[in-house]
Amino acid sequence: MPELAVIGGTGVYEAGFLSGVKPHALVTPYGTVEVQIGRHEGTGGGGAEVVFLTRHGIGHSVPPHRINYRANIWALRALGVKRIFATGAVGSLQERMAPGDCVLVSDFLDFARERPATFFEGQGAGGGSGFGVVHTDVSEPYCPELRRVLRQASEATGVAVHDGGCYVSTSGPRFETPAEIRMFRRLGADVVGMTNVPEVVLARELGMCYGLVAMVTNYAAGMTGNPLTHAEVVETMAENVRKIRALVWRALGLLPAERSCLCGRNLIVVGEPPAAASAGEGPDAPDGSVRENRKQVE
Ligand SMILES: [Zn+2]
Repeated sequence: MPELAVIGGTGVYEAGFLSGVKPHALVTPYGTVEVQIGRHEGTGGGGAEVVFLTRHGIGHSVPPHRINYRANIWALRALGVKRIFATGAVGSLQERMAPGDCVLVSDFLDFARERPATFFEGQGAGGGSGFGVVHTDVSEPYCPELRRVLRQASEATGVAVHDGGCYVSTSGPRFETPAEIRMFRRLGADVVGMTNVPEVVLARELGMCYGLVAMVTNYAAGMTGNPLTHAEVVETMAENVRKIRALVWRALGLLPAERSCLCGRNLIVVGEPPAAASAGEGPDAPDGSVRENRKQVE
């Protein structure tokens, strides 16, 4: 089973760094997800299977607020994925993070509204699956091990990165106002995007490592005096996508075989485990790893 995945954001639509790519459709409790599975020949001795998923769907047809985040993450987990490298286009709130720069995101602020942001809707919810009540630890929302590997990939490829940055997630699809950007900056945000929450949270809920390479495509609203356009985002991404590809491709080959982080172990279940989960039914991935990864607290 593939244990690695790449989620391609805006401008990253091709699984070109994989060989023998085949399409694959997965039915999840949230809907059907189409992915591609291929081999990354630079991973380990004999290569490794990698799942590639385009966040916005084929032809960038799904806007940020309509993305089926739960189906996407569920599908990856059901396929056996344990580690996810994701890419995303972001606006910069900091002069030092210029268009064309890569940022290894380390924390987030969540200002995204009206989108399902958890698998755990309480017992009996979610189509009767019994997901229970779970409060997930996000003290370190982005996997430190994946970030370390991305740093190594940066050194190996010569693609410079900003190591660490706070991503503020907005709902979209509109861009932000200058007042919002001023507020976000005061709150500690470095970059702004429309998709990373809940994606990173859902991955953690299922015990998966998640690392994000954000590509700065523009300065945020009010910083330059120019209006923002999606064309500008796409253009900057197209000019610099090779950097993201180089980083992710190399990082896939630098991953240690075993995880040494806590991403798979720090899920916390408050109260009784849901009946369905106890009975071995419900939302757990086929190998039962979701259940194993929870820690019961009294
Ligand atoms: Zn991890």
